[in-house]
Amino acid sequence: MSIQYVTRVVDTLKRRYPGEPEFHQAVNEVLDSLTPVFEKNKEFEEAGILERIVEPERQIIFSIPWVDDAGKVHVNRGIRVQYNSALGPYKGGIRFHPSVNTSIIKFLGFEQTFKNSLTGLMLGGGKGGTDFDPKGRSDNEIMRFCQSFMTELYRHIDADTDVPAGDIGVGAREIGYMFGHYKRIRNVFHGVFTGKGLLYGGSIGRKEATGFGCVYFCNEMLKDRQTGFENKKVLISGSGNVAIYAAEKAISFGAKVVAMSDSGGYVYDEGGINLEVLKRLKELERKRISEYAKEVKSAKYTEGCSGIWSIPCDIALPCATQNELDGNAAQALVKNGCIAVAEGANMPSTPEAVKVFLDAKIAYGPGKAANAGGVSTSGLEMSQNSMRLSWTFDEVDAKLRQIMINIHATARNTAAEYNTPGNLVNGANIAGFLKVARVMMAYGL
Ligand code: NDP
Repeated sequence: MSIQYVTRVVDTLKRRYPGEPEFHQAVNEVLDSLTPVFEKNKEFEEAGILERIVEPERQIIFSIPWVDDAGKVHVNRGIRVQYNSALGPYKGGIRFHPSVNTSIIKFLGFEQTFKNSLTGLMLGGGKGGTDFDPKGRSDNEIMRFCQSFMTELYRHIDADTDVPAGDIGVGAREIGYMFGHYKRIRNVFHGVFTGKGLLYGGSIGRKEATGFGCVYFCNEMLKDRQTGFENKKVLISGSGNVAIYAAEKAISFGAKVVAMSDSGGYVYDEGGINLEVLKRLKELERKRISEYAKEVKSAKYTEGCSGIWSIPCDIALPCATQNELDGNAAQALVKNGCIAVAEGANMPSTPEAVKVFLDAKIAYGPGKAANAGGVSTSGLEMSQNSMRLSWTFDEVDAKLRQIMINIHATARNTAAEYNTPGNLVNGANIAGFLKVARVMMAYGL
């Protein structure tokens, strides 16, 4: 009965939204875990909770005209998916990347709904983005683009309605331009964005939060296996916001990060990546990771980013993008002795890769649990904005760490309660879903 219910909802969704593979993949993964929940809670099916939860409450698609430095006019497409507001204002980042389309933004918004539920904070789920490619654009071009983006988006967001943040291609610079333009055209100064600069309402610790949180989560998985990060060899894909701070925390816990990547390739440094050099190249100079190997002679650069998973390691932290780690890569990791994978990125492992990790019974922390530190600290930024107060780094970091410990415990305990001990995919999906579903029941239709 419950399996039929889940299958019916998935089939309808695929018929209604053909050609959205990432969205189907994310829904399938969550719904795979939920059959036992519907066995136990018949009222969810009667109330049509599943049909309602897979359908975004609102999707806004708009054009973004802008002029480049040479005077040429361009038009990009903007998307904001306001997925589910049961638990609070829609909350989720904005992505600037040429691959962005409705399938990708919907998969991210769907995942975000359950992730935000797991944080224990009152946050609904949403996500946004555009197919604009910021690579190689001047500061002025980025500013004009961000202003044009916000000229439409401002109508749909508000501190109590929908609170965006950064994601791939959107960091402090872009958020500054978008928040500044919002403030100008709305004539209000409130916490409508998170990830803001520290001088205008940002939270100390937000920049580090997703990467640090991922390592805190992984550390809990390791503790359950009577080990930790000390002297472990770690692979981290990506070299953006999440990857850099995952590396920083892993190193501070005594690990050696031996490889990192960008979309062009990866660097391998047996003695451990020099994070100071990498940060300067990536955060300040916005250069390619290949430059790292030119500066640090002990490092070797290899073109093509997927080869990183063939390097022997103890722990892998995929922190770049969706579907970056496939079944073959997962098999190579397991064969080479990897004991833990924690996802800093959203859905970086393909379904085949997830199956390999679960079958091998290595510690596996899915993104919606392991990377929830970013949105959690965004929630803390919203609290500070509402109070018009700022907490110290230590206060924010202590709260973040406790939230990650709680998320891990919730996922682990829920997995055991539903007879799949150790399966944090099931644990995170079920726990995240149950809270949203119960609140939707409380509201009626
Ligand atoms: P950044 O833009 O700062 O960095 C992204 C990194 O991933 C870059 O090194 C980039 O390389 C690489 N990358 C992007 N696309 C690809 C691709 N198609 N193939 C290989 N590498 C790629 O983004 P973030 O660090 O903020 O985000 C990384 C991941 O973490 C995303 O999945 C995001 O959704 C997720 N996440 C981010 C949060 C945050 O707080 N920022 C919160 C929770 C999840 P290149 O420069 O060459 O493109």
